[in-house]
Amino acid sequence: MFRDKCVAVTGGSRGIGRAIVEAFAAEGANVWFTYHSLAETAETLAEVLRSLYPDQTFTAVKCDASDPEQVKAFFEEHLDELETLDVLVNNAGITSDGLMATMTQDQWSNVINTNLGGVFNMTQQVLMKLILQRSGAIVNVSSVAGVYGNAGQVNYAAAKSGLIGLTKSLSKELVGRNIRVNALAPGFIDTDMTSDMNDKAKGEILGKIGMKRMGGAEDIANAATFLASDRAAYITGQPLVVDGGLVI
Ligand code: NAP
Repeated sequence: MFRDKCVAVTGGSRGIGRAIVEAFAAEGANVWFTYHSLAETAETLAEVLRSLYPDQTFTAVKCDASDPEQVKAFFEEHLDELETLDVLVNNAGITSDGLMATMTQDQWSNVINTNLGGVFNMTQQVLMKLILQRSGAIVNVSSVAGVYGNAGQVNYAAAKSGLIGLTKSLSKELVGRNIRVNALAPGFIDTDMTSDMNDKAKGEILGKIGMKRMGGAEDIANAATFLASDRAAYITGQPLVVDGGLVI
């Protein structure tokens, strides 16, 4: 589905981002993905993919999504030179949970600057390229917390909710230029991000999920490749909830 296409994924070294990178790779794409700090994890993934798919390009780049200068350098060094950039997946994200009454300014700004500012930084860099080539698909990874809210996550929910507003607004700016912008809102997905939840909290959440299981990263990757593909050619400006029936 993505043979010879060029795809950029932020936060592609682990968890959902890694599954997204792997899914695009399996569909024939060349993939440039960023990571924040775990260089060995990211480089190992790129190596494995190169050996699995020797005719495709896989590049791991250290780039803090919250830093506009690093994002600009990533774009200028790796993406600007491509004839066409077909897909951007804004996946990089962090949590720093706590009740609002005791949340620090750093907890607030780190999450907002990464989860929402990072998407602004990356998308703004690639925008002119997509507009000039008159094609492209952007997929922003939001969260059910951004749709329904979640106690203990005002920073995260605000960023993820803002991301849905960004997605809808940008899709209106780009709909006439053959560029689609959509969002994914995953429910509870089994990754490092959710691994430190205690058994009691996990049990409570499982009790609320209709399918009685946490999602796998591949569940989100399947939705990401769908939204980026021509099969979703008539879909733009939409948040797609992928939560196993958490909220029906
Ligand atoms: P994860 O397992 O913690 O992986 C996070 C990825 O993002 C890693 O590749 C990490 O790189 C990278 N990253 C972190 N901060 C970054 C930064 N400032 N700049 C660039 N890359 C950065 O998280 P995940 O569970 O896969 O989550 C991926 C996305 O899905 C996030 O946006 C998250 O909010 C969203 N989401 C997750 C869930 C869930 O239940 N897991 C639910 C809803 C939404 P390093 O490896 O170098 O640290």
